[in-house]
Amino acid sequence: MALIVHKYGGTSMGSTERIKNVAKRVAKWHDAGYQIIVVPSAMSGETNRLIGLAREIMADPDPRELDMLASTGEQVSVALLAMALHAIGKQAVSYAGWQVAIRTDSAFTKARIQSIDEKKVTADLAAGRIVIITGFQGVDSDGNIATLGRGGSDTSAVAVAVAMKAQECLIYTDVDGVYTTDPRVVSEARRLDKVTFEEMLEMASLGSKVLQIRSVEFAGNYKMPTRVLSSLTDPLIPLEEEAVSGTLISFEKEDNMEQAAITGIAFNRDEAKITVLGVPDRPGIAYQILGPIAEANIEVDMIIQNQSVDGRTDFTFTVPRGEFSKSMEVLTQSVKAHIGAASITGDAKVSKVSVVGVGMRSHVGIASQMFRTLSEEGINILMISTSEIKISVLIDEKYMELAVRSLHKAFDLENAA
Ligand code: ADP
Ligand code: ASP
Ligand code: MG
Repeated sequence: MALIVHKYGGTSMGSTERIKNVAKRVAKWHDAGYQIIVVPSAMSGETNRLIGLAREIMADPDPRELDMLASTGEQVSVALLAMALHAIGKQAVSYAGWQVAIRTDSAFTKARIQSIDEKKVTADLAAGRIVIITGFQGVDSDGNIATLGRGGSDTSAVAVAVAMKAQECLIYTDVDGVYTTDPRVVSEARRLDKVTFEEMLEMASLGSKVLQIRSVEFAGNYKMPTRVLSSLTDPLIPLEEEAVSGTLISFEKEDNMEQAAITGIAFNRDEAKITVLGVPDRPGIAYQILGPIAEANIEVDMIIQNQSVDGRTDFTFTVPRGEFSKSMEVLTQSVKAHIGAASITGDAKVSKVSVVGVGMRSHVGIASQMFRTLSEEGINILMISTSEIKISVLIDEKYMELAVRSLHKAFDLENAA
């Protein structure tokens, strides 16, 4: 019997009414003969509320305790969903991550899934039960609860689908698929029927929060068919219609000749830029600047080193905005002491906008069209980085939405290729 994994996000689980709708949708699939595992998120706003409580106690709570707290939101969801299924006559059982068990490393607040025991779940499914497993969490080798980072229920769902050899993983959310850009920012954004795995990975890593990046990695590494679709439709719409709705992540090699140049636009508001001015231009300098940042576990994204003048150069890089003050502290201590740089400056009000598309491989002039569009809007580019299928620019955050809207128009994304 085919197994399908359903994942429901915070909005989809946002009230008892919505949870009852999820139960109806799940029951419809079960009645059609599928085995079903459901991976829900916490009710919308709950994870933020819990983290807020922690911050009321102290600014920098211990990550283990933070995970102990933040993981409780999902425990509420699974139990309520099991009850909603019982209430309509379905057999269902809920588990926290540690009960399954979903094993992770011990990197609290950003743990990685290492393995999933399938025994218990297999037995439940064989007995005709719908199995509900908390998203976002697992257990480390010492029995500590560890969470997978914000948005991590997507990753839980795809990992469970892979471990249980599901036929497909359906990610139900508050939009009806993956769009050319966030439809909350550009109302003309268009839903994509299909997006290649490579493009989805770029979009997710460049800020499109519709899927957590690691969930896309899992889907790609194990070729798990994964579809993003709406949980807000009538739960009783015909299954055949629902099963082909939304956006499918595809693993096929696309025929480049027929590709549009650009598939989508991603953005990330929460960037910060740091410049170390007047560093001596000698071998090892990048390592001396970025080494201490890496040791502090801070992820560096874009990097530029200027042409040197009189043996000195400027070195600029970006970090997540939440790590800005920590980065400045680390640099002030290490760089000034060991490198003798003239000064360090920073700007925590910058954003990154990226155009993404496998079609870029066969189209020329994408970068110049992007830069022309931004210049026509009077938007100054602070940094640029490129890969084979994306071009990213760093700009002042106040122009971010304008940049996304004008690029969406310039590349004619509202119209299908
Ligand atoms: P969930 O709680 O279901 O996990 P999320 O809020 O994490 O939902 O993800 C869905 C949201 O992602 C949408 O409401 C939308 O605003 C946002 N989003 C960002 N980029 C895109 C995109 N390219 N396509 C669709 N949604 C996007
Ligand atoms: N509840 C968690 C969060 O808000 C995980 C998720 O929703 O995917 O980040
Ligand atoms: Mg999400």
